Amino acid sequence: MIETQQSLYEETYDNYKNYVNPPLARVMKLSGSPVEVRAQGSTIWDSNGKAYLDFAGGYGVFTLGHSHPKVIAAVKAQMELMSLSGKTMFNVPLGRASKRLAELAPGDLQISFFANSGTEAVEGAIKLARAATKRHKIVATRDAYHGKTFGALSASGRDYFKETYAPLLADVQHLEYGVTAGLEDALRDAAAFIVEPVQGEGGVNVPPAGYLRAVREACDATGALFIADEVQTGLGRCGMLFGCNRDDVVPDVMTLAKGLSGGIIPVGAYIARPSVWNAAYAKHPVMHTSTFGGNELACAAALAAMNVLVEDGLVENAKARGAQLLSGAQDLVRRYPTVLKEARGLGLLVGVELTSEGYGGWIIPEMVKRGVTAAWTLNMQRVIRLEPPLVVTEAEVSTALAALEAGLATAQEKLGAL
Ligand code: PLP
Repeated sequence: MIETQQSLYEETYDNYKNYVNPPLARVMKLSGSPVEVRAQGSTIWDSNGKAYLDFAGGYGVFTLGHSHPKVIAAVKAQMELMSLSGKTMFNVPLGRASKRLAELAPGDLQISFFANSGTEAVEGAIKLARAATKRHKIVATRDAYHGKTFGALSASGRDYFKETYAPLLADVQHLEYGVTAGLEDALRDAAAFIVEPVQGEGGVNVPPAGYLRAVREACDATGALFIADEVQTGLGRCGMLFGCNRDDVVPDVMTLAKGLSGGIIPVGAYIARPSVWNAAYAKHPVMHTSTFGGNELACAAALAAMNVLVEDGLVENAKARGAQLLSGAQDLVRRYPTVLKEARGLGLLVGVELTSEGYGGWIIPEMVKRGVTAAWTLNMQRVIRLEPPLVVTEAEVSTALAALEAGLATAQEKLGAL
């Protein structure tokens, strides 16, 4: 039974205000955030029973849509057996999920480490690179987002999130994203170059075609490892299995999380070439570990989610619906030029850039009022992301575009009244 009373909103708001995050509670209240209670497919229902198309999509988590029945069935079956690993014995779902990931991943990426989040996957990849190369320096890109633990934060590109915690990792250099001039020089003494195939939180920045190929070549020339952070772009999001497929390149290490377990259990992972993994850990099998990482529940969910992604043709759907969403958004750019500067994206990772950051405060609440969620990108607040589940239908994309248009019309009207 879903509680539909106003009291559920009040209780949850009070709990946020007193026990979760007081300033965030106030911001969410002011922007009219409802209380989520149930979700299925592309839809979330609030405590009043109102339905919302989820175009914020948990920032890219719900590749299979919410509550996919095949993943839930796999998790329930596993739960009846055992949920978390006893750690001293072989774990069947961990072995199977690692094997399936190696089958799907590009080239000879083969050895996986399972963690519990994207930032942990990135930490693991950075440590692997240092251990394998015996070098320290990490090269990353401006506006990148890799997570908020210390190593991942050091590689991230927005000072606002970093300054409070300085000093972070020493020996990290940031280069312009999508630009290859100077890359080889920067990588000469580096352990790794970490880069997103499309910058998600940086404002949905799609690099020029061939960029990742040039990255591969620069890494080959210098001995630095190529870490592709596919936490957001991987597993169908970009209308291809992995963002790296766009340039047909094989990184040395790839990080994943978000869609990996189909939105049912938190999970993250990196997958590495055997040569890289062996150079780091052939003689040190417990150098980098996690108590919960690789647990049976998360791995059963990941295995089922990877199978659904392929069997249900979701990558193809992401490509078709992504094209519809992007061309619809680009049409809105032409029609609302005072509010929208650009629409860009790859597959179902689409961003619309506003002419001024503040307009989002008019547009997003209007969309929510009309039953569509959307969100800013973390490192570029004038970009609204549209990142629905890969199961989204043609009609749902049209509905979301209509809601976005209503938001733009509201913003234009308010601007006219100023
Ligand atoms: N890497 C990328 C590319 C991301 O987009 C994110 C999160 O948005 C992360 C890493 C961090 O993932 P998490 O929030 O699960 O720690």
